[in-house]
Amino acid sequence: MNSSTLPINSYVIVGGGTAGWLTAAILIRVLENTNATITLIESPEVSTVGVGEATVPFLIDNLKFLDIPETDFILKTNATFKLGIKLTDWQNPGESYWHPFGDVGSKINGWEFYQHWLKANFNGDTSNYTDFSPCAVMADAGKFYIPNPKKPNNLSTMGYALHFDASLAAAYLSNYAQSRGVVHKQGHVETVSKHEDGRLKSLVMKDGSSVKGDFFIDCTGQRALLIGEALDVEYEDWSHYLPVNRAVVVQSEIAPSETKKSKTAQSKVQGSLPPYTEAFAHEHGWRWQIPLQNRIGNGYVYASDYCSEEEATELLLKNIQGKPITEPRTIRFTTGKRKKMWHKNCVAIGLSSGFLEPLESTSIYLVSRAAMLFITMLPNMSLAKETESEYNRLMDSEYENLRDFIVTHYCTSRRTDTAFWQDWQKRDIPPSLQNKLAFYKSQGRLIRNDLDLFGPISWHSVLSGMGVFPEAYDPVVDATIVAESHKYIKGVRASLIYSVNQLLTHSEYLERLKL
Ligand SMILES: Cc1cc2nc3c(=O)[nH]c(=O)nc-3n(C[C@H](O)[C@H](O)[C@H](O)COP(=O)(O)OP(=O)(O)OC[C@H]3O[C@@H](n4cnc5c(N)ncnc54)[C@H](O)[C@@H]3O)c2cc1C
Repeated sequence: MNSSTLPINSYVIVGGGTAGWLTAAILIRVLENTNATITLIESPEVSTVGVGEATVPFLIDNLKFLDIPETDFILKTNATFKLGIKLTDWQNPGESYWHPFGDVGSKINGWEFYQHWLKANFNGDTSNYTDFSPCAVMADAGKFYIPNPKKPNNLSTMGYALHFDASLAAAYLSNYAQSRGVVHKQGHVETVSKHEDGRLKSLVMKDGSSVKGDFFIDCTGQRALLIGEALDVEYEDWSHYLPVNRAVVVQSEIAPSETKKSKTAQSKVQGSLPPYTEAFAHEHGWRWQIPLQNRIGNGYVYASDYCSEEEATELLLKNIQGKPITEPRTIRFTTGKRKKMWHKNCVAIGLSSGFLEPLESTSIYLVSRAAMLFITMLPNMSLAKETESEYNRLMDSEYENLRDFIVTHYCTSRRTDTAFWQDWQKRDIPPSLQNKLAFYKSQGRLIRNDLDLFGPISWHSVLSGMGVFPEAYDPVVDATIVAESHKYIKGVRASLIYSVNQLLTHSEYLERLKL
């Protein structure tokens, strides 16, 4: 073997937040029985960002890939189930809609359900698109259930993710990774030394020791110690597209009524933990509410050009349910991404690689996506340029697709109550999104971009939820007799409601897991 094609012997991950430990867990899963060493270095002086508690269904695939028993993970991270996001006050104050996981309806005569729904809508039907989503119907009723894949039923097309305690999740993944051979070192990296060709050589620690490596993974959060400070890879600022840049966060107690069982139909969700994230639009941004088994995570994401820290904190504290159990703290960020996430012998994963704001809970997804992509492209000592550029191309697409999806929530709003929302009416949106929206508005068609986490069902949930309707539906559905699709549409809704009525509440389902 030519020496340049030898495998990488030592991987060094810097950072012990969700990104560091999830990456370590994924890497050791494939390198466990090889000669490669994986070392994770974490500074006792720099705390983790401490937020990042809502996920998307990809996390469940990750747990399966890592062979982590889902129930064990749920119990040890105080996790709850998530069936999607309830978006309140986005289109107009007082209105809510769902972005559910899983399918919405199913194809009729081979054509997408959303086209049949659009046609029914043109013909006067007043249902909401997500009335036909198993997840939205369950979430609305505060119920939860995972269908048995061997016994398919009308709820089988649901999907789910988790809300979890970020520090407990990092601890869980840390145990997992260390028990399989990842070496954990506490220490603060002071500087980085480089080879003549610009590759990273070793980390110089505060205690004077040094740590060498063949390949480095930068999970140092927003500081981006390796990719940014040492390698000078620039940050592409997307604030002109996504201007929010602060989040004030606080944890609160679960209000007593939420822990009790539901007694009346009206108290539906009140009587149990909501199996969804709620995102409320406000004057200068939006507020999240993430239920865990033992507490609620809250945060107000806002743009500092329009709102002071004091105003934001006051708004958050005024709106949370239950008493606060932590002091409110403000996190600053700039939306955007690194111009290159892989450069020479370093890849940036997590906040060091970029951040889009948390509206669609996509950051931990991007961490796992990056780590999974990295293991399919593991480099050797030659550090082929092609691997680097292919990785960067794919991750860029992921980021751009998610950016467009998030921008859609804002730019389609009709709110004009503050300067923040008025400015959204005139703000430039990415050309890729302009095309997608124009195509949809003129023809009612949504084509999935390569590597878009969110397909037409998600896009249609948000567009119809925001009241964006096309001028036409796809004429292919005209081959289906109106009465036939109408019968189907009515039948799906009734059967979903019937099935969901039989289910346990989300709280009861979680209690069962503990038995
Ligand atoms: C307001 C907000 C809300 C969010 N909500 C969500 C959400 O709901 N869902 C979601 O998926 N994502 C969310 N995210 C993103 C999510 O929190 C992050 O993607 C995730 O936590 C990963 O962070 P990280 O590990 O990259 O960085 P961090 O948690 O910041 O960890 C950085 C690590 O680097 C170490 N480090 C730093 N400097 C040094 C040094 N010199 N030497 C050694 N070690 C060092 C630190 O000790 C730490 O261990 C949110 C982010 C923000 C800001």
